[in-house]
Amino acid sequence: MYDFLIVGCGFAGAVLAERLANEGKKILIVDKRDHIAGNAFDFYNEEGILIHKYGPHIFHTNSEDVFRYLGKFTDWRPYEHRVLGSVDGLLVPIPINLTTINELYGKNLTSDEVTDFLASKAEKRNPILTSEDVVLNVVGKELYEKFFKGYTKKQWDLDPSELDASVTARVPTRTNKDDRYFTDTFQAMPKNGYTEMFKKMLSHKNINIMLQTDYKDIVDVIPFKTLIYTGPIDSYFDYCYGKLPYRSIDFKFETLNQENYQATGTVNYPTSNLYTRITEFKFLTGQKNDKTTIVYEYPTAEGDPYYPIPRKQNQEIYNQYKKLSEDHPDVFFTGRLGTYKYYNMDQVVAQSLALFRKLKSREEYVQQ
Ligand code: FAD
Repeated sequence: MYDFLIVGCGFAGAVLAERLANEGKKILIVDKRDHIAGNAFDFYNEEGILIHKYGPHIFHTNSEDVFRYLGKFTDWRPYEHRVLGSVDGLLVPIPINLTTINELYGKNLTSDEVTDFLASKAEKRNPILTSEDVVLNVVGKELYEKFFKGYTKKQWDLDPSELDASVTARVPTRTNKDDRYFTDTFQAMPKNGYTEMFKKMLSHKNINIMLQTDYKDIVDVIPFKTLIYTGPIDSYFDYCYGKLPYRSIDFKFETLNQENYQATGTVNYPTSNLYTRITEFKFLTGQKNDKTTIVYEYPTAEGDPYYPIPRKQNQEIYNQYKKLSEDHPDVFFTGRLGTYKYYNMDQVVAQSLALFRKLKSREEYVQQ
């Protein structure tokens, strides 16, 4: 008899497995894929280059708790991600900053001057409801079209005016020269990769792992007390309120017979090409090799569920599933798919640590 059956071996499932096993609970964790680590899975390809199977994963957080917790299972390699955008035949920093504006417009503005420049371009919106409103309100139409409109259309197959404000609100505009993609306090990559970190998390005598196993195939035959479910919530309820829409990505990997391909970790293509961006893994991992592997990302409607699509009508469908889940008090839904929310890795870790504390405080848990 297992205390917990955990569905999904990504960050959400693995953190809970580790925490609960550490408290003496017996855990079975299942994943339908043939590997641990969920979407953070990385591995060495045939040329010996460490790549991320589900696209580039860059760790960053403001939470010291999360950083310290994961630090029990890995050493860190400091890494600050930088992104350039291919716009008007130039490669300029993204998010838009002072350098971006000066290079695009052939100017030599100071921080104060660029603030005035952007204010003169901005088209004030009130209320701010959509992703289009967010951007027009800060940088105006021209920069919106160069950096956001086409990219968003490719990424989501929707116009920014059809997407919640939250999507573009994630991307700041800066009036200084800070060209880091993230500004979080902690920015680092697991020194030996994510999969190695997961291996350490899960190497506990109380944790059994079954890969290539859909939980539906074992849920009625393996006895357990409590279910933690990190797969898609709509699938759990057999899509009774309809399918929750997701955006997927086709990853095309290419290994090149040269040491280096591009100027920085990621180059975005907001207005050209069918792919959104190209990432060169060696920037992220710091690996030395005569060859280099890059990945192109082609967003698609079909494929693995990666990005919950943040629109009001989808949130309403999710709310119905959430309400239904309240009739199942011994099933806990968590993670990006279980709660249909665009979470970064650190947010999923924080969410799992919070669920662990909640489980620990439950009376039944204490009695078990
Ligand atoms: P997942 O990692 O998706 O794990 C869920 C697991 O459940 C999967 O392995 C799946 O196989 C399994 N599962 C589902 N259904 C079943 C079933 N019926 N039976 C058994 N198993 C099942 N975050 C960052 O912080 N930084 C980044 O740079 C970053 N880049 C990203 C890039 C891309 C392209 C994507 C898609 C995401 C990125 N993220 C990034 C987000 C990050 O991937 C997620 O926050 C994290 O993986 C969520 O973990 P999770 O455990 O909730 O889900």
